Amino acid sequence: MDFSILAAGASGEGAVPAWAMLAYLAAGVFFILALRGLSSPATSQAGNRNGMIGMAVAVITTLVTHNIANIVEIAIAIFIGAIIGVTIARRIAMTAMPELVAGFHSLVGLAAVVVGFAAWLNPAAFGITDAADQILAVSRVELGLGIAIGAITFSGSIIAFLKLSGRMSGSPIMLPGRHVINLGTLVAILALIGIYTVSPEGGAGQGYLVIAVALLAFIIGFLLIIPIGGADMPVVVSMLNSYSGWAAAAMGFTLGNSAMIITGALVGSSGAILSYIMCRAMNRSFISVIAGGFGADAGAAAAGGAREQRPYKQGSAEDAAYMLEQAEKVIIIPGYGMAVAQAQHALREMGDKLREKGVEVKYAIHPVAGRMPGHMNVLLAEASVPYDEVFELEDINSEFAQADVAFIIGANDVVNPAAKTDKSSPIYGMPVFDVDKAKQVFFIKRSMGGVGYAGVDNDVFYMNQTVMLLADAKKMVEEIVKSLD
Ligand code: NDP
Repeated sequence: MDFSILAAGASGEGAVPAWAMLAYLAAGVFFILALRGLSSPATSQAGNRNGMIGMAVAVITTLVTHNIANIVEIAIAIFIGAIIGVTIARRIAMTAMPELVAGFHSLVGLAAVVVGFAAWLNPAAFGITDAADQILAVSRVELGLGIAIGAITFSGSIIAFLKLSGRMSGSPIMLPGRHVINLGTLVAILALIGIYTVSPEGGAGQGYLVIAVALLAFIIGFLLIIPIGGADMPVVVSMLNSYSGWAAAAMGFTLGNSAMIITGALVGSSGAILSYIMCRAMNRSFISVIAGGFGADAGAAAAGGAREQRPYKQGSAEDAAYMLEQAEKVIIIPGYGMAVAQAQHALREMGDKLREKGVEVKYAIHPVAGRMPGHMNVLLAEASVPYDEVFELEDINSEFAQADVAFIIGANDVVNPAAKTDKSSPIYGMPVFDVDKAKQVFFIKRSMGGVGYAGVDNDVFYMNQTVMLLADAKKMVEEIVKSLD
């Protein structure tokens, strides 16, 4: 391999022209603006645009300021990558987004490992050697950490991808004594990085140290994710996102590239903050997520037990339309099934019609509704539901007591009262909507046999005030809209 194209770092940050440093700083500012924009559906498109501008500035600055041996090869690689990226982005279903994100994270992790090995094999090309041609101690730490975090991200993301895409069972795989094994492996990785940092360059076994760090890290990534049950996967995806950022930041130090350090740190910290927010939304402990296996009981409980037959009421679109137009206040709770059915446009039409009839309509969004953070917000925004009608869990939960109708469309786990009462339930502890407080509940799902992501029965189906509307969400809402005419 010709490392001269990476000779970029050979001279380190010091040799990067001042304008390039400013350009990297500007790229960092664009990334911060991107994150800010992405914090609300109203500004998310502008946020995405800022992210793209920042990335273009960073890539072009790097290409222009570095001694690139073969720009054609790089252009071809960018072209192929762009074609693959555009094709995947166009084809991917919204509901498959989390697995796509997990797949992309695995590539970030792998890239960090590959760059780490490249720097280790040819340190002079990366400018990380001292006068005696030895890799600087600080660079060894960066290298070791970059490879380790990258490898953990790689194997962990592959498992998350396999679980989310259904290619591997979502149930937790529990190894006996896994916490001791995980902790022991982590300590071994850190010890090996320490030994590598202080051992003389070229000494016997040095190569094995770096390879052992990578291998152990691949294994720990795998071990950390296999015990995590499907219901807790959203937190895992966001946590791996954070890891991939830190891996990139560590490699940014090795490459002497400030844009990469800034970007990596932004991704790492925003991913960590999102993981924390999601843990809070699901009432999970952040530490136990990082330790792995926190969703263990979840899967076990979800898998077990046949469901008993209980009486329930079933209604029609006409029944629902009649009750909805009589109501003063309706709270709509969308979930994964709305996304599957692509019912958001019909739902907005229903909301508009009801408002025209003087009904107060609000949309209630749970932080983990759907299959990715912000899933419902994106779909409702796509259907032009006004943002001021959309409310977060903590802002609207107290209003169910005054609601005439709670209209549940394709949601299930996020309204399951077992989360409040049943300690053995996989979703126990997750805050849920208090739909049982509403005077009337309409519940759209396709059949009584279907379950939500956590795979558990839901007492709301059998409540006195609940009417089940068993049909595809889009068809049912379209019929309700017709009946409202
Ligand atoms: P759930 O997965 O709990 O329930 C989905 C419901 O939609 C089911 O009742 C299903 O029943 C119904 N449904 C499916 N397809 C249709 C359709 N075409 N028409 C009508 N109904 C349909 O969804 P929630 O949004 O309530 O909960 C999200 C769950 O996903 C949580 O457990 C969360 O932890 C997990 N999760 C969340 C992620 C995130 O980041 N948001 C990522 C990964 C997992 P039926 O089959 O009978 O139709």
